[in-house]
Amino acid sequence: MFKKDPKSTIKKKYEPTKKAQEFLDKVENPKYDRGMIRGLNKFIGNKIPEEMQGFYSEEELQALVDLRDTPNDVEARMPVKITNHYFQIAKNSKPIQTLVKASPAETYDLDGAPDPGNQMTYSPLEGLIHKYELGLIYVVDTCSAHCRFCYREELIARKEIKREDGTVASKGTAKIPELVEYILEHNKLVEENGGKHPETNREKLREILMSGGDPMVLPNNKLAEWFSALADAGIESIRLGTKELAFYPDRFDSTFLNMMDEFNSTYPEVQLRLMIHFNHPDEFLQKDTNGNYIDSTEGGLVWIERTKKAVKELAKRNFITIENQAPFIKGINHDPDAIRIMQRELKRNQVNNHYFFCGRDIVGHKAFNLTIEESWNLLNDSQKGLSGVEASARLSITHYLGKTEVVAVTNEAIPGLPGAENGVVIFKLLRGAGDAPNKGKVSIVGRNPEAIWFSGYEDRVIFDEAGLFTESMKSTSSVS
Ligand code: SF4
Repeated sequence: MFKKDPKSTIKKKYEPTKKAQEFLDKVENPKYDRGMIRGLNKFIGNKIPEEMQGFYSEEELQALVDLRDTPNDVEARMPVKITNHYFQIAKNSKPIQTLVKASPAETYDLDGAPDPGNQMTYSPLEGLIHKYELGLIYVVDTCSAHCRFCYREELIARKEIKREDGTVASKGTAKIPELVEYILEHNKLVEENGGKHPETNREKLREILMSGGDPMVLPNNKLAEWFSALADAGIESIRLGTKELAFYPDRFDSTFLNMMDEFNSTYPEVQLRLMIHFNHPDEFLQKDTNGNYIDSTEGGLVWIERTKKAVKELAKRNFITIENQAPFIKGINHDPDAIRIMQRELKRNQVNNHYFFCGRDIVGHKAFNLTIEESWNLLNDSQKGLSGVEASARLSITHYLGKTEVVAVTNEAIPGLPGAENGVVIFKLLRGAGDAPNKGKVSIVGRNPEAIWFSGYEDRVIFDEAGLFTESMKSTSSVS
């Protein structure tokens, strides 16, 4: 565990190197008008543009008001926020309305974990989750719009959570000087110890995923400071997790792209990976008056112009890779045809299909989560008819031991195998949260169509090479 040196000379403020400063001096910093509406009060008081009136019906608003200041207060769980661009999409799309409109159903059952994934266990420093060779950092605690199912709801709603030392405080965001010190110290110890950290056995920290919230709500100069600080600390690959292509594609304008180009000329050794988040093709495809997607004369389907322009510009740059990853959520994308169209169109436009996720056990998850077997069937059905390159996405559910793939669900009994009378589910550990000795190991369980989490299979484990169902799972109510 990282311990801050009491005599640390750590600076409060980021002090760029000369090389970084030369890059930062070239960054332009425009202001953006996303036409954001924050909070239900705006809808209740009709303090919204005329075109948005009626987005919530009077009955819907009243039902939400009735829950205020009760334990089922919907906005206390997740504040309401939407951009004008996303409203334009949502007004003609039921799935997108479900994604962005608050509903009383979210708090009917508040079962769930306040710190999904026991993330704090892997947080040696405020705003950093360190797993594998990857560090995830929270750089901001909001997004341009808020997804109702968000599993970072505790960060975005600024809820207080219990920490390992027993104190209670809200999650904070990472600070550049502290994070840089952590990276340098970790990597120094790894190098001195022959490639593994002497206490945690982890390898070099070489990738950082900038997350939040959505880093793209930060101005270009803040993003640029993070990029240069991470590059100077020896990070080889920077991932930026964002849903801004759905919420406000104009954010990927020439000033942002110029900043990326300048960064690449200054630090050509650092790879940039944009981890984007489309849940449904309605977020990027145009529809005709009958609600159907439109065939393009250039092949494929017609995109929303601003989104297409942004993706095209990003895809032109060979130092950026674009990967889509998204959870499967009830009422939003439980639709194999939509998921098939999405995978095909994204790949056609140079966006890789990376992961689909089973929902996490956040507070209120029962309003959102599909069962594990529904999710597997959804992905499997959606990939029928896709080519191998289009169908590259895997279904992931992250156990506290590490990222795990739901590899297969069989419909047939396996003759002679006790517990497999109704078929089996096969999980494979993709990587361990600490080091990697168990990578590739599998666990096989008898089917349970109701299960939304590993705990739903505890009573039907057939084979547990990966150790997903050991005693230790029981003491961990929620896993990441
Ligand atoms: S974009 Fe991501 S972090 Fe932001 S509200 Fe949606 S799911 Fe949460």
